[in-house]
Amino acid sequence: MIDFRSDTVTTPCAKMRTAMANASVGDDVYGDDPSVNALEEWSAQRHGFEAALFCSSGTQANLLALMSHCERGDEYLCGQQAHNYQFEGGGAAVLGSIQPQPIANEPDGTLCLTKLKQAIKPDDFHFARTKLISIENTINGKVLPLRYLTSLSEFAKSEGLALHLDGARVYNAAVALNVDITDIAKNFDTMTICLSKGLGAPIGSLLFGSKAFIAKARRWRKMLGGGMRQVGILAAVAEIALKENVERLTEDHNNAKYLAEQLNQIDGIKVNVNFVETNMVFATLHASHNIADIANKLLNKNIRITAGSPLRLVTHLNISKSDIDFFIKELTQLIK
Ligand SMILES: *Cc1c(COP(=O)(O)O)cnc(C)c1O
Repeated sequence: MIDFRSDTVTTPCAKMRTAMANASVGDDVYGDDPSVNALEEWSAQRHGFEAALFCSSGTQANLLALMSHCERGDEYLCGQQAHNYQFEGGGAAVLGSIQPQPIANEPDGTLCLTKLKQAIKPDDFHFARTKLISIENTINGKVLPLRYLTSLSEFAKSEGLALHLDGARVYNAAVALNVDITDIAKNFDTMTICLSKGLGAPIGSLLFGSKAFIAKARRWRKMLGGGMRQVGILAAVAEIALKENVERLTEDHNNAKYLAEQLNQIDGIKVNVNFVETNMVFATLHASHNIADIANKLLNKNIRITAGSPLRLVTHLNISKSDIDFFIKELTQLIK
């Protein structure tokens, strides 16, 4: 199956499966799992933070971050397109009594500092207390420029706000910019990363922050049912993902660019090739085509896409250049 729906569909390689089978484990709720302890210690250092917390998912890691930065009646500023506003079930509001204050993302994915400034509430009991800015990088496959991160970080400090990065795909950003992950991470008080997307691990996310912050998040994680026991089986894979599957993200980015160019050659499909910076391609089909019907027909050829408009196609380690050629050939036949 050639699956373009997301990079979350990647499956663990043989080396990961061996690492899982051989992982030393203990009860992590007691702090006894050597694989988790080693991962949290190593990864905190690697990303330039005091401490790390292994989480079941990116959604959980973001929720823990929001709930650890904000108390009941506080708010966080985020993008209108932010995953932790749009796609996490309203968890911060539902479970944290935290109000999101969304702000329209600029076309490049950034949040305008002037608009952020205008959204900060005065210290007045009519308002929620503004505590945190949360941004996303990459956002819809777009990379936020480093100089923007620096100015955002200075802005947050000057306003007395904490700054969180939803870095589900931040490694795609680092690889696209050809910088070390710490060049991005150093601008933030806290950061999450997903191991289970382009990095190829089956399960897991990491949350980074100060020691005190992670201690608070660990308490929330337990309350939310995220205290896992012999979870070293999963943690053992993380280091492989972070050491061996980072540089190869370039391949996914090149494949996405190639896919975009090929799609653009098909009559009735439009792609803004310049918009493709990492592993995501957004394509618009002419209205005369029924995308649900096309998706169904592709399925017969073992190709999976999400029938959306625009169409979002994601490249990852289980998609090769020849898979893309095959997809383009089949799609061209369906569309003409
Ligand atoms: C995927 C994703 C998440 C959530 O990760 P899950 O592990 O699927 O819960 C959070 N933020 C962004 C930007 C994502 O793309």
